[in-house]
Amino acid sequence: MMAAGRAAERGRRVLLLEKNSQLGMKLALTGGGRCNICNAQENHKILLKKYGSAERFLYSPFSQFGVKDTFDFFTGLGLPLKVEANQRAFPKTENATDVIRALERYMKKHGVTVQTNSKVDNFIVENNQIEGIKVDGRVISARTYILATGGKSHPETGSTGDGFLWLSKLGCKVAEPTPTIVPLAVQDKWIKKLAGVALDDAKITFFTDGKKAFSIKGRVLCTHFGISGPIILNSSGKVADLLYDGKVTAGIDLYPHIDLGKLDKHITAIFDENKNKALVNVIKSIVPPGTGPVILSLLPQIDPEKKVHSISKSERKQLVNLLKSLPLTITRLMGLERAVVVDGGLSIREVEARTMQSRKYNNLYVTGDLLHISRPSGGYSLQLCWTTAWVAGSNA
Ligand SMILES: Cc1cc2nc3c(=O)[nH]c(=O)nc-3n(C[C@H](O)[C@H](O)[C@H](O)COP(=O)(O)OP(=O)(O)OC[C@H]3O[C@@H](n4cnc5c(N)ncnc54)[C@H](O)[C@@H]3O)c2cc1C
Repeated sequence: MMAAGRAAERGRRVLLLEKNSQLGMKLALTGGGRCNICNAQENHKILLKKYGSAERFLYSPFSQFGVKDTFDFFTGLGLPLKVEANQRAFPKTENATDVIRALERYMKKHGVTVQTNSKVDNFIVENNQIEGIKVDGRVISARTYILATGGKSHPETGSTGDGFLWLSKLGCKVAEPTPTIVPLAVQDKWIKKLAGVALDDAKITFFTDGKKAFSIKGRVLCTHFGISGPIILNSSGKVADLLYDGKVTAGIDLYPHIDLGKLDKHITAIFDENKNKALVNVIKSIVPPGTGPVILSLLPQIDPEKKVHSISKSERKQLVNLLKSLPLTITRLMGLERAVVVDGGLSIREVEARTMQSRKYNNLYVTGDLLHISRPSGGYSLQLCWTTAWVAGSNA
């Protein structure tokens, strides 16, 4: 949408082909439906370090369309942005479909013809030139082609990796897609019972075969298959390595800022204030909302209906230990179907950084998730899309 709108803005006659009946189905999922539209780090020297080995490649495209341009672009389309923790930017309306509507307005303003329900099946190539594409048995020809078919994550949105296949067939160097930013599947039923709950301000420590590997702090989201949230997603690569080494377990600390002794004192004080209340009621002021009964179910030896004045010291200690390390067994990384970012794609060595033009086919331009560029979660993926698409649209 960005590439099409930009090319049309320059006066080109543009046809956008989309196989779904509507545009931007993956965009609608982004940022949990709020769309983390970009990362607000305006200093490109700092920002581009997040793109690993593609840092140098991206200097030119970002100098043409960077973070500030993203803010100006969407604000200009009537969609002002706001910045939250860790420089994550969102539309003020907190609605990803508003981003789709804004891009549709952009395309309409500049006269892009949009054709939905149009699946591109193949490319027709002659003498290192794309001569046409096949859509439902018909051949469509154009002077220039911009490929923006995305990666392979969440294939139900339409991103089924068709572009990877075409590029490989065209003899381009394409790295095999593997999920890199992906939630973790766990064995434990208790976490699944908390699906939809966020454990804010927690610390999670990972172990391989019982040996501490690493810890991270932040928000852990419980899901019906395991755990997710930005800190989990960004650690999935490291956890993948641990899974290779042995059995991976983890402990979630709900009180990372105080030690066991201080937590025991804190709980004792709460118990003293609520002597005659049942544990199942008092636990509500100790753990995140909605998690009390599930957390207590991890201590089956303690009757949740027991009045707290009769909780023994040893039982209180068991509770304290549990709150400092809720146990999990990590079974695997979720697959492509749940991944936020899938590594792999066209080698950037085969792309002209200044224009996004293929070095092998001079009337082909490649953008977004099709490019083999790794990055963390936090708005870096969509910024990469806006930048590469704007550059492709400016040059096609
Ligand atoms: C759950 C989830 C949450 C995310 N959240 C964020 C976030 O908050 N911030 C962020 O920066 N990034 C996020 N991302 C990543 C971001 O969504 C992608 O980087 C981005 O959508 C890639 O854009 P794209 O244009 O390259 O491809 P896509 O958005 O995948 O679009 C490709 C389009 O091409 C169409 N298509 C594919 N094949 C064909 C064909 N043969 N013929 C015709 N049309 C075809 C598809 O139907 C699709 O509409 C998230 C990803 C997921 C899965």
